[in-house]
Amino acid sequence: MPSSAQRAEELRRQIDHHNYLYYVEAKPEISDREFDRLLKELQDLEAAHPDLVTPDSPTQRVGGQPIEGFAIVKHRVPMLSIDNTYNADELREFDRRVRKLLPGEPVTYVVELKIDGVAISLIYEEGRFAVGATRGDGERGDDVTHNLKTIRGLPLRLRTKKLPRLFEARGEVYMTTQELARINRARTAKGLEPFANPRNSTAGSLKLLDPRQCAQRNLQLFAYSLGVVEGLTIKSQWEALEHLKEYGLPVNPHIAKFDSIDAMLEHITGWAERRHELPYETDGMVIKVNDFDQQRRLGYTSKAPRWVVAYKYEAEQALTRLLKIEVQVGKTGILTPVAHLEPVKLAGTTVARASLHNADEIARKDIRIGDTVLVEKAGEIIPYVIRSEPGARTGSEKAFHFPSKCPVCGAPVEREEGGAYFRCMGPACPAQLKERLRFFAHRNAMDIEGLGSAMVEQLVDTSLVKSIPDLYRMTLD
Ligand SMILES: [Zn+2]
Repeated sequence: MPSSAQRAEELRRQIDHHNYLYYVEAKPEISDREFDRLLKELQDLEAAHPDLVTPDSPTQRVGGQPIEGFAIVKHRVPMLSIDNTYNADELREFDRRVRKLLPGEPVTYVVELKIDGVAISLIYEEGRFAVGATRGDGERGDDVTHNLKTIRGLPLRLRTKKLPRLFEARGEVYMTTQELARINRARTAKGLEPFANPRNSTAGSLKLLDPRQCAQRNLQLFAYSLGVVEGLTIKSQWEALEHLKEYGLPVNPHIAKFDSIDAMLEHITGWAERRHELPYETDGMVIKVNDFDQQRRLGYTSKAPRWVVAYKYEAEQALTRLLKIEVQVGKTGILTPVAHLEPVKLAGTTVARASLHNADEIARKDIRIGDTVLVEKAGEIIPYVIRSEPGARTGSEKAFHFPSKCPVCGAPVEREEGGAYFRCMGPACPAQLKERLRFFAHRNAMDIEGLGSAMVEQLVDTSLVKSIPDLYRMTLD
């Protein structure tokens, strides 16, 4: 019969091991129920023998009382920001700069996914998780140890016999897309504003004072680099990633090494689409020179390290709010619904209007005024509304009814035979005339200078022009 102390230690070892298999190897060997049974046994044992509780016991993840406020942690090595690139040319330029500073040397790059979360630092002293902090301004961050401990994939002690005196892992705390949707549904049900993206929800969760609340958020972690390390020699980024994983920290599996810029670009381009299949959001890649000695010699500019760069994919989709639906009348009388949006950054531009195609599409997608909608902009085409987020509804959204009369001239509208479009049947519809004039002026831009949109408005509104021939009579005068 083992002593209670031995049994408690054995349970901790088993729980840590199964956590490791689940979160780091993604190869669980026991069911969640069996895992919970082990945890329950440990909890009962510790309740009966409070002296057996250790700070790194898995029962202590959601241990303490809410904290009063956040202590400030000064980072021993600053957490620097990194430069961004946005296309292949800029990345080639980065590669040229690196090779120029390392003449004649082979260079290997490590490419990792850039997870859309919150950067953090994790300090392990003698192998035990001691302090976790946010990046903050890069020099100082907030002590969020109490909340980080609730992340089940974060080891409270490192999986190694040869414990380094000091080991700082850095990484990204994130939230899955599914978890964000679940939390936003719950928030809107309570009349709270939904989180705009997983980064905001993660940051908001880490800033909770009560770790029990944070535990409900199911935050996750990927470790991706080292900070200050004592009592251990690591020579490259690839080796660092292997060490992090070996020590029991979750490392993103989609990592790759490249000796040539062409192969690297092919890999990065391939992920532009593939990344949407991941259960979490990524907005780019991080490219690092692998060799630590080369990193050291490349050094830093005043702003950022010279040996690392981010590659950002174009944000082609974004969530925003649908403020209203305006029905416009085109030159042939076709009524088109246009979405007025809360302005949002999309593929390098600010988008405030988007196409909704036609009445059937609005009904089919159940898009309501006030909805949170997903907007897409591909290349140069007009942005359009892909779908609404029913989970984000508050109950104040209004269904949209297509008008039965022309919103401009009041004439009845008719549905095209077998078509999806409604058309204004008004013979003297000013909206149609304006659109015809604009179209005409645009096509003959060289001949009718100065006939801009505002001029067309004025001419039609003051009845000076009732048809295109009127325009010629006017210019003759
Ligand atoms: Zn009309």
